[in-house]
Amino acid sequence: MSTAVLAQMREYDHEEVVFFQDKSVGLRAIVAIHDTTLGPALGGTRMWHYANEDEALKDVLRLSRGMTYKAAAAGLNLGGGKAVIIGDPKKDKSELLFRTYGRFLNSLNGRYITAEDVGTDVNDMEYIFMETDYVVGIEKTQGGSGNPAPFTSLGVFQAMKVCLHEVFGEESFKNKTVAVQGVGQVGSNLIRRLKAAGAKVLASDIDIEKLTKTQAELGFEPVDAKAIYKTPCDIFAPCAMGGVVNNETVNLLHCKIIAGSANNQLERPEHAKMLKERGILYAPDYVVNAGGLINVYLELEGYSRERAERMTRGIYYNLKKVLEIAKEKGICTEDATNLMVEERLKKLAHTQTTFQPQRKTVLSHIHNRRKQYSL
Ligand code: NAD
Repeated sequence: MSTAVLAQMREYDHEEVVFFQDKSVGLRAIVAIHDTTLGPALGGTRMWHYANEDEALKDVLRLSRGMTYKAAAAGLNLGGGKAVIIGDPKKDKSELLFRTYGRFLNSLNGRYITAEDVGTDVNDMEYIFMETDYVVGIEKTQGGSGNPAPFTSLGVFQAMKVCLHEVFGEESFKNKTVAVQGVGQVGSNLIRRLKAAGAKVLASDIDIEKLTKTQAELGFEPVDAKAIYKTPCDIFAPCAMGGVVNNETVNLLHCKIIAGSANNQLERPEHAKMLKERGILYAPDYVVNAGGLINVYLELEGYSRERAERMTRGIYYNLKKVLEIAKEKGICTEDATNLMVEERLKKLAHTQTTFQPQRKTVLSHIHNRRKQYSL
């Protein structure tokens, strides 16, 4: 087993993988720290009923590496990490489980900072916060930054403007149709922005009750969940699930641009090339959806909503740079983003070694939050 873990760590270039278990509370967790060249590793804790440990390990290795790339693309002083708790989020959660997990995280001394992810929520983060400061995305009343979704949607909106300019020569949403997949926290916030900017909005959701309720509130044209792929539109905005650009859908898509918040929109890397061949501009998800990460990151530097908004607006320039690289090198946008990130990591590796105590500045506010809260 240990050989297999080290082999996988070598393959993805991970720094550290930590296994935690406490039988008495049913905790089995893995933390993967991928790269701390730019700062402490930050990424959510996913709770999932993995079929076995191998599946959990694969997931945490893949997700933590993704966080390194997302933080680096957003220009943050953050490394990439992620954690998984093996268990059923509907049945296996308890105060004790998350508090025990929080104590384990404390032992990493800030090399890894956690947040919410699939299967965990703000209540779980509050239990973790009872035991350690190394958690972000907690409630505003506790010194946290609150719901990240409005920032994620702002970043997506900024990215759409870049794409509109690239494809149509102007950033205007007037006379443009946007098809939003998923009217959840990000999707509904994005629809508000799009409507205010004058776009025609179509939207789908598998939760029909939610779709109807949101439609009554925001006013858009509902589309069948399966039909959305082939619905003619200018921008397709995946704001639901990953893997939506796949062998089945890639040739159905009837859009000029793809820009949305969902993580891992491409099922496989080659789908980026297929989109390019079809003349569809793909705005890489991890550049576009970094607004939420930017927002929680600022809990580490002293939170300010204005700064979070300003930095999230910067996604506009990050994506512009990606498009420039893609054009200059004649490559797809996904490859261009990877090049941009790897270059930043390489350059900064010369000036910074792996996580060191001098990064205290990045972590100082994380401890102050508790002091402010207890005042
Ligand atoms: P959410 O759970 O609030 O909303 C997701 C919505 O998608 C739900 O209404 C769900 O019913 C719907 N859905 C699921 N499958 C669907 C399908 N096949 N077709 C249409 N609708 C479907 O989630 P969210 O916070 O709005 O996040 C949306 C996506 O963006 C997720 O992939 C998430 O990982 C990603 N993301 C979110 C944030 C954030 O700040 N919340 C940040 C980065 C990335």
